[in-house]
Amino acid sequence: MNYSLSFCNAMKPSIFNANDHLFMQRAIELALKAEAIDEIPVGAVVVHNNEIIGEGYNQSITLNDPSAHAEMIAIRQAGEKLGNYRLLDCTLYVTLEPCPMCAGLLVHSRIKQVIYASPDLKTGSAGSVFNLVANEKLNHQIEHRFGLYQEQCSSMLSSFFKRRRKEKKALKQALKQNES
Ligand SMILES: [Zn+2]
Repeated sequence: MNYSLSFCNAMKPSIFNANDHLFMQRAIELALKAEAIDEIPVGAVVVHNNEIIGEGYNQSITLNDPSAHAEMIAIRQAGEKLGNYRLLDCTLYVTLEPCPMCAGLLVHSRIKQVIYASPDLKTGSAGSVFNLVANEKLNHQIEHRFGLYQEQCSSMLSSFFKRRRKEKKALKQALKQNES
C-alpha cells in the first residue's frame, strides 16, 4: 500500500456507502450499551464479507481491565469466529478514533480497513495525534477514513463526560453537606 496515499485519504472528506452506514449504526448501538453501564460510550464492529463477525463496547471499569476497549473486544471475537489470528479483508467500524493500544492491535491483526466516526484529538492514533495505522516504519498499513456520524458520536461522548462531571460535583457537594 502507498503510505502517502492512505494518509491523504484520511484527511479528505470520505464517501460512505449504505453498508458503511448500517455497520456504524450498529457500532453506535453498542456505544449506547457502554453508556448504559456508565462506561465511556464507544462501540465497535468487525465486518467480513458484509457480515458482522465481532462486536464490542467499552467495559474497562466493569471488567477491571484497562485493555477492555470496544475495538479489543470486537477483534478478539472476530478472530475466534474466523479461527484465525489474522483479520485479513476485514473492516473495523468504531465510533471513536482508536487509541495507541488499539491502533497497535489493528496493525497486529492485519485488518484491511478502519472507519471511525469521531476523531480523538487527545489520544487518537489513526491520524489525529499519532498515525500508527499507516506508518511506513511498521510492517502493515491500514486504509482509514473517518467522519461517518461524526457529530452524533462526538456529542454522545461530550454529553457523557458532561453528565459525569455534574454527578461528581453533586457527590462532592453531598459529602461536604454531610461533613458540616
Ligand atoms: Zn483503545
